[in-house]
Amino acid sequence: MVARIIPVEPFDLVIFGGTGDLARRKILPGLYRRLADGQMPPEARVIGAARSEMDDEGFRKLTRESLEEFMPASALDKERVEEFLSLLSYVQVDAKGDGGWAELKEHIRPDVVHAFYFSVAPSLFGPIAERLKDHGIADDNARIVVEKPFGHDLASAKALNQSLACHFDETQIYRIDHYLGKETVQNLMAVRFGNMLFEPLWNSQYVDHIQITVAETVGVGGRGEYYDRSGAMRDMVQNHLLQLLCLIAMEPPSRYDPDAVRDEKLKVIRALEPVRPDDLVRGQYREGPDGPSYLEDVGDPRSRTECFIAMRMSVSNWRWAGTPFYIRTGKRLKARASEIAIVFKDAPHSIFDVPQGRHSNVLTIRLQPNEGMQMTVTIKEPGPGGMRLIDVPLDMSFAEALGEQAADIPDAYERLIMDVIRGNQTLFMRGDEVEAAWAWTDPVIADWEARGHVPSPYEQGSSGPDDALMLLHRDGRRWREIRP
Ligand code: NAD
Repeated sequence: MVARIIPVEPFDLVIFGGTGDLARRKILPGLYRRLADGQMPPEARVIGAARSEMDDEGFRKLTRESLEEFMPASALDKERVEEFLSLLSYVQVDAKGDGGWAELKEHIRPDVVHAFYFSVAPSLFGPIAERLKDHGIADDNARIVVEKPFGHDLASAKALNQSLACHFDETQIYRIDHYLGKETVQNLMAVRFGNMLFEPLWNSQYVDHIQITVAETVGVGGRGEYYDRSGAMRDMVQNHLLQLLCLIAMEPPSRYDPDAVRDEKLKVIRALEPVRPDDLVRGQYREGPDGPSYLEDVGDPRSRTECFIAMRMSVSNWRWAGTPFYIRTGKRLKARASEIAIVFKDAPHSIFDVPQGRHSNVLTIRLQPNEGMQMTVTIKEPGPGGMRLIDVPLDMSFAEALGEQAADIPDAYERLIMDVIRGNQTLFMRGDEVEAAWAWTDPVIADWEARGHVPSPYEQGSSGPDDALMLLHRDGRRWREIRP
């Protein structure tokens, strides 16, 4: 199979924070790959804009070093790297002052798509938006891309939305949640809505429960102080895990278009029940062989911020009433693995001589590593031993099914940046969605704070605190193993 690459129109992309960590690790390498694949046209221009004093050559040097540091040598072609670097320039701007904006304007060509990536702290979103408009740099067709975190709570998210809305229309604002850019996440929609097979079973009558796991092996490392101000609920659940839950739970949109999809996701968020205290587990990793405890990592022995959270959630609507969604995410767990599992109910009656409850179909959607899907089905164990049943996987690993094409699956950031240039907002969060997610999150946090809840310690390299296992055990269910 040959991957079809459709080049996007020529564009000017300004990266505010072009010298920062995210630009160096994700945005610049991603753009290089899009150029190397023929999707980014050679007429495109990338303009780094940041506070550091630097000229074009300095920015090219920083970019070359970033490509070498964050990409495998095999992915770098000498000529292509030179071509990519020749498309780059740099302008020193002060997001909160007036320096550099006039020069930036001179870099912007009037007749191509304009995109402005705000890869800077959220406190700079408003000031940059204001200056782009005041200096006549961004017109009504320009697009702005904003990074997470989009707010710390509902009030701050509203304030951020307002600061952008003063200068840009909602159709121009692309709020990144890079989980939505993952191949399997989009495949989830293709599988649900492109096949007859699943949708009739996709409800509480046939689905026993759903598990969403996003497990990391790393700790909070060098960003402890920042992390301790947010925690797993704000850093992961409010955005990434809720977005995944929405894609599983939403009704079929009438069309695959940005507002139709986002309207359906919004309805799911609004149908989420508040989480009851005994449906919630929070944890902090202990000291272990891989490093210090969470409390040491954040430098506050009294911190009550969670770096692990597990919850039993309910979506109150006709489709899902009675089907729990169990979600968990945490750091320093036993493996780096993100997956969604749809666990179907057992057959209502067994004609075979095996106890009920031992065989159920599970559809697993794996986000990382090894993106792919797997469906377990029950079959007869081969051989002459009579009618014994076993569960075997029907595998759809992208690597095997698609061969070389799978190796070319773009990273989430690359895909999302190309979507910005194409003007497709489907995989970006709308302002009302983000606010609805905070409106659900805030009271859950306020409730545990009011109760003075203290996170439970857990071993590094484990599956989290034992209480998290109990969350399912008491319902007669089990978490799936966290496997790399
Ligand atoms: P960083 O601190 O490494 O870089 C910040 C950039 O902003 C630098 O280029 C700096 O020069 C520029 N900057 C700071 N103040 C400025 C000013 N007054 N005027 C102009 N430029 C200024 O940060 P980062 O890790 O690259 O993160 C950028 C954004 O992306 C943040 O909102 C962060 O939360 C978000 N984010 C980062 C990651 C990541 O992996 N690094 C992941 C997800 C989201």
